[in-house]
Amino acid sequence: MTEWADVLDVYGSADEMPRLLARAAEVTDMRAPVWDELWSRLCHQGSVAPASYAALPALVQMARSRPDVAVDPALHLAAAIIGAMDVPAGAGSERDEHAEEIAALRQLASRKVGLVEARTDVIWTLLAVAAVEDLGAWSSHLEALVDGEIEADCPSCAEAVCVEVVDGVLVIVDEEGETDGIAVREAEPGDLGPAEVRLLELCREHGHGEVARELRQLFGRATCSLCGASFRIADALD
Ligand SMILES: [Zn+2]
Repeated sequence: MTEWADVLDVYGSADEMPRLLARAAEVTDMRAPVWDELWSRLCHQGSVAPASYAALPALVQMARSRPDVAVDPALHLAAAIIGAMDVPAGAGSERDEHAEEIAALRQLASRKVGLVEARTDVIWTLLAVAAVEDLGAWSSHLEALVDGEIEADCPSCAEAVCVEVVDGVLVIVDEEGETDGIAVREAEPGDLGPAEVRLLELCREHGHGEVARELRQLFGRATCSLCGASFRIADALD
C-alpha cells in the first residue's frame, strides 16, 4: 500500500491523492475539475513527481475498467506520465519498473485509435500511443499538430520557422504570420522511420485518412523562408 502522506506530488504532500483518485474513477470527462487537479498535481506541463509513478497502477486500473470510453482521461494522464519518463529504457530504468502498466496501456491506447473520430481526438490518442510505445520525438511533438502551429528552427541558418496547419495543409508562415506559399513536402515512404510507419499504419487501420495526410506532411520536409534550405521537420523541432 502506498503511504500517500509520505509521497510528494508536483505541489507537495500527496495525501489528498486517494480521495482524488476515487472521485476520478467515476468521471470520464477530461474537462472535469477532478481531472484538472490530477493533471496539475501529477503531470504539470510535463513535470512529474514521485506521486505520478505511485498513481500509475490506479490510473491503469481505471482505464482498464472502462475500455469503451473513447477519450479516457485516465489513459491520457497515465500515458503523459510515461511520456515524461527517462528514455531510452534500460536496466533499472523507470520504464522497466513500470513495464506491467506500460504493457496494459499499450493495448488500451492502440485500441482507442479505433474508437475516436474527431481530428483532435485522433491526434491526442496517437500522442498517447507514441508515449506508451516510446516513439521518440513524436511522444511530445504531435501535440503541436493539435495546436495547429509547429515551431521549428532551420538547421542551416538557425532562424525560427513556423509551420501552420491550414485546412489539413502544412504551410510555412513568416514572422507576420503571412503564408509565403511554400508548402511542406510530404515524406516519401523510404524516408519514414519505424515510429512514423507505426503512426501511419494505425491511421490506415482505423480509417483516419485526413490525419494520416497531415502526419505525412509533418514527417516530410520544409523549406526555410529565409535561407532557402530544405530540411526534415523532425530534425528541426524544438
Ligand atoms: Zn534557414
